[in-house]
Amino acid sequence: MSYLKQNIQQIKKRIEAAAERSGRNPEDIYLIAVTKNFSAELIQEAVDNGIVFLGENRVQEAKSKVDLVKGNIEWHLIGHLQRNKVKTAIDIFTMIQSLDSWRLAEEIQKRAQQADKVIDVLVQVNIGSEETKYGIDPDDTEVFIEKVATLPNLKVRGLMAIAPFKENPEDVRAYFRHLREIFQSIKEKSIENVSMEYLSMGMSNDFEVAIEEGANMVRIGTGIFGTRK
Ligand SMILES: *Cc1c(COP(=O)(O)O)cnc(C)c1O
Repeated sequence: MSYLKQNIQQIKKRIEAAAERSGRNPEDIYLIAVTKNFSAELIQEAVDNGIVFLGENRVQEAKSKVDLVKGNIEWHLIGHLQRNKVKTAIDIFTMIQSLDSWRLAEEIQKRAQQADKVIDVLVQVNIGSEETKYGIDPDDTEVFIEKVATLPNLKVRGLMAIAPFKENPEDVRAYFRHLREIFQSIKEKSIENVSMEYLSMGMSNDFEVAIEEGANMVRIGTGIFGTRK
């Protein structure tokens, strides 16, 4: 059995166990395979072993791969999007998980309208309020979403966050819990044109804790493909 196939099976088992620990259905957890720095050949092998959702950080890198990977797949953008790349991004990606500013939202609105599309987005929250990370401040998230909700060609489908890096994943549990609370509170507002369905949090080193705290989308790179060069 190839190492990729083995890795995918192991990750799926761990997702299942974490879901069960938190009393949830493992089938409700989406696995996004994060493909940055990995070749189209390797991505194809992952897809042939059951991966459906692919996450890329950069528009240019995704563009060089999309035509080379075949199958029933969806590409999600998970990295910072520059406004001059929006037009290409909405051609490639099924979902933009990294909406992190109002100016970007306005640009997506403009390009989506021109293309006659409605773009699914997740709002990226800077859950650790880190200067080195993109994202909306946790305290501003609700107001931001109310504003984005007025843009007819964007549809907010949930939240995404990258927790601060800690050796011990237990140390990020509180961040995940906080994001889950924000998610829940916005969901309960039932804002028009907003559908709070996806909570995208958790990466290779902390996805089990994220699932235990309510994530239903995890983004895993090295856990599937191995160490990035
Ligand atoms: C790289 C990346 C991941 C995956 O990280 P791993 O540690 O390789 O699992 C997830 N989300 C985002 C936004 C990333 O940039």
